Amino acid sequence: MNNDYFSHLTPEERHIIKDKGTETPFTGEYNDFFKAGIFICRACKSPLYESNTKFDSGCGWPSFDDEINGAINRHEDFNGGRVRTEICCAKCDGHLGHVFHGEQITKKDTRHCVNSLSIQFKPYENLEQATFGSGCFWQVEKIFKEIKGVYLSSVGYMGGETKNPNYQDVCKGDTNHAEVVDLYFNPEVISYYQILNIFWENHNPTTLNRQGVDEGTQYRSVVFYYSNEQKEIVERTILEQSKNWINPIATQLISASTFYRAEEYHQNYLNKNNLGSCGI
Ligand SMILES: [Zn+2]
Repeated sequence: MNNDYFSHLTPEERHIIKDKGTETPFTGEYNDFFKAGIFICRACKSPLYESNTKFDSGCGWPSFDDEINGAINRHEDFNGGRVRTEICCAKCDGHLGHVFHGEQITKKDTRHCVNSLSIQFKPYENLEQATFGSGCFWQVEKIFKEIKGVYLSSVGYMGGETKNPNYQDVCKGDTNHAEVVDLYFNPEVISYYQILNIFWENHNPTTLNRQGVDEGTQYRSVVFYYSNEQKEIVERTILEQSKNWINPIATQLISASTFYRAEEYHQNYLNKNNLGSCGI
């Protein structure tokens, strides 16, 4: 190991990265952390993981189902009485964690189990956030995941009173949370106006608290805005859309609040389960 990469580390970081230690599960700063950006090596600063490969495995450590090409080295690890595959930064050989296969949590069926102390997050400052609800979030996410310029999409809950709601809470319909899709997109590739047009084209904004057979406030048509600029663009598209419908637009326009990411099995649900649409 080249010590230059490690001299700036704290004793705790050094214990994990150099001495191949393991941090206590559910304590790392990136375990429950889902923002758009890149994770770099805390020691040598090489890019290791894109945040759109991060998922919640429930194991208590940051989990990724893919690596940046060439960023990771693998070594067989015989410690602890079993054979595991240790993963290290390809540039500085700093210890990251272990990689596992065959758990079938995501489509790639791979889990890089990484210590938070081994990595560092750098946000993508050029991306814009958009959050909206238009019925069953499985279907809405599937549509947006395939749109060019959308870097990260997650499904979750927003707009209600309950903190940390789960799917069962929201399904009962009394939390006032909407099922939403949260996007980070590159406005140089696709504009917020274009994103909104896809939103409008893919649901009926005139049915209050209902999309097709799905009924309840959680299925309401709603846009959560992050800036006055976004709010004005939404207002403009509402005027444009009202010409396309006989009944008035029932879509709510609300300032964005805390996004609660839904349970992992809801993320990328239709693709994971090879389903074309909801209700099959
Ligand atoms: Zn490194």
